[in-house]
Amino acid sequence: MLTRRSLLKTALASSLTPLATRSMAMGDITLTTVSDGSLVLPTGFIFDPMPKDQLPALFEKYGLDAERLTPECNLALLQDGTNTVLFDVGSGPDFMPSAGAIVDSLDAIGLTPEDITHVVFTHAHPDHIWGLLDDFDDPLFYEAEYFMGRAEWDYWWNPETVNTIGEARAAFAVGAKRRMEVIEDSVNLFDDGDEILPGVAAIASFGHTPGHMAFEVRSGSSSALVLGDAIGNHHVAFAHPEWESGSDQDAAQAVATRQQLFDRAVSEQMQIIGFHLPDGGMGRVEVDPNGGYRFVGEAS
Ligand SMILES: [Zn+2]
Repeated sequence: MLTRRSLLKTALASSLTPLATRSMAMGDITLTTVSDGSLVLPTGFIFDPMPKDQLPALFEKYGLDAERLTPECNLALLQDGTNTVLFDVGSGPDFMPSAGAIVDSLDAIGLTPEDITHVVFTHAHPDHIWGLLDDFDDPLFYEAEYFMGRAEWDYWWNPETVNTIGEARAAFAVGAKRRMEVIEDSVNLFDDGDEILPGVAAIASFGHTPGHMAFEVRSGSSSALVLGDAIGNHHVAFAHPEWESGSDQDAAQAVATRQQLFDRAVSEQMQIIGFHLPDGGMGRVEVDPNGGYRFVGEAS
């Protein structure tokens, strides 16, 4: 069972390390990934519901530790000369010691929080939204306009959610609501298919959370997918997208979502940015002739 205590216990074993920043130009748009650090998770968080007899081979193939996973946290940053758009805000100081590095990482590429004109949320999990507040509980990105999918907002805003989400995730609900209250009067809510900013369209990708949103970024004839956690790792999510993952709230719906996004990324040859994908989180998808898919990092 995943609890906040078990998350913290494993997190103490790691520390902040600077991670890769990746960048690509698409017409007038530049997409960059900016690191918020990494998470430390017990492997069971993802693998508990999966076929036990097939896991050892998978762990060996991907070089995974049997006890803990340390996924990167890579925020997508879109710059088009007018707007500087950050997708999610990272963990802030209160989730895990290994995460919450976004201000340092922005600084390393010459940006400060006030340079961010728009913040777009994929979903309201701690590693994506807890970085919203500064030390005075005001919005850290104080010049930004905020955007969240309507279904995601409604789910975490509902006072019943903390009682129905289950003990392991109750702190997620409390933490999300507290941050959403700060932007309640100004947040822009959107739905599937909405073009929320020039060149940025929302894609309903429910399952990981009830209202998770991915985004298509388009400039001219090129396009990229900002996946959030809809494809949450480079190993089992690619090798066996059909396996239900313990990290997804509605695991069956998340399977269908993953399959749709993979189909699209492959058929339209789109670049992808995944929040927890390795090497800066930017790359593309290949069909694996042995079944499933492969993540090909931008650096490869
Ligand atoms: Zn995440």
